[in-house]
Amino acid sequence: MTQAAILATEQKQSETNPVVLEVRHLTKHFPVGSMFKPRFVHALNDVSFAIRRGEVVALVGESGSGKSTTARLITRLIEPTSGEILLHGIDVLKTQPHSATLEYRRAIQMIFQDPYGSLNPAMSIGFHLERPIKIHQKHRAAQNTVHDLLATAGLNPPDEFANKFPYQLSGGQRQRVAIARALAVDPEIILADEPISMLDVSIRMGVLNLIEQLKEERGIGFLYITHDLASARYIGDRTIVMYAGHMVEGAESTELMRQPAHPYTRLLLSAVPNPEAGLGTGAEQARGEIPSLIDPPPGCPFSPRCPRAMNVCRQVMPETTNLSADHWVRCHLIGSKQAVSSQV
Ligand code: ADP
Ligand code: MG
Repeated sequence: MTQAAILATEQKQSETNPVVLEVRHLTKHFPVGSMFKPRFVHALNDVSFAIRRGEVVALVGESGSGKSTTARLITRLIEPTSGEILLHGIDVLKTQPHSATLEYRRAIQMIFQDPYGSLNPAMSIGFHLERPIKIHQKHRAAQNTVHDLLATAGLNPPDEFANKFPYQLSGGQRQRVAIARALAVDPEIILADEPISMLDVSIRMGVLNLIEQLKEERGIGFLYITHDLASARYIGDRTIVMYAGHMVEGAESTELMRQPAHPYTRLLLSAVPNPEAGLGTGAEQARGEIPSLIDPPPGCPFSPRCPRAMNVCRQVMPETTNLSADHWVRCHLIGSKQAVSSQV
């Protein structure tokens, strides 16, 4: 393909798949010290990314790397220390009419690791869907029915499922109810925080395929949060790797798995012998120690664990280096043009 043809393709893609949600320099420092000795957990530092219509962005990292904090900030359950959150280019953190806030809360939905926790055990599945449908109907002509939502989420026969109670469903079916409930308000983005990690391995694929279907058929964008690179590769158009509250590498998913540049990405990948072999294996084995996030020292957060750390790594946070149009990394080894050994 010629350069002009590539540019034309990219242009076409950005027209058909415009950016829906963007975060810029998102930072969250939780205060934990006393009044006399203020201290801060640096949970999230300078995180920026965008999600296009119908795009799945996978956010990968070990426990404690700041993934859930990112999602909680985007849903506005908590407020950032600094940074911007933009829906269709408009900063939602700036003072806005109440209607804009309501619109944002509709557009951005979230599903959690444990769907049971968000379902009322005393109420039927149909009840769980009726309320968001009613609220949504006040604002829109579109009419979602309990029947259609359950059918879309793959809970068939829908009428039978509507009369069931949460305890009568399997974990996978409960996660499908959570997805159906999110769909009730016609969201543009769904934040899925470890949606399959509590499910049996045998039913994980079904939930991932449902996400794929919603992205393709409804143009919904997803932030797919996981500690498991294999599922990120399976479902994510792009993957961003987080470590200790920092984004360390990002690329189109297959490119990232084929040519990981950051030593941490390599470490995670080394624990996934064959990313296509199965979901939910591997990444757990690469677990080490995330350094304390309370008033962390300067430098690259991965340097204490990095087998190739240089002096500069312990002193200065690396800048972003672009390896290709959609592959970037923050690592002094790359910045200083030294090859990173595959023997990490
Ligand atoms: P992940 O979802 O990647 O496992 P989290 O975003 O939940 O990580 O947490 C990132 C860091 O922020 C952790 O060290 C966690 O202990 C800390 N953290 C999260 N919420 C709070 C809070 N309310 N107060 C203090 N620290 C917090
Ligand atoms: Mg989490």
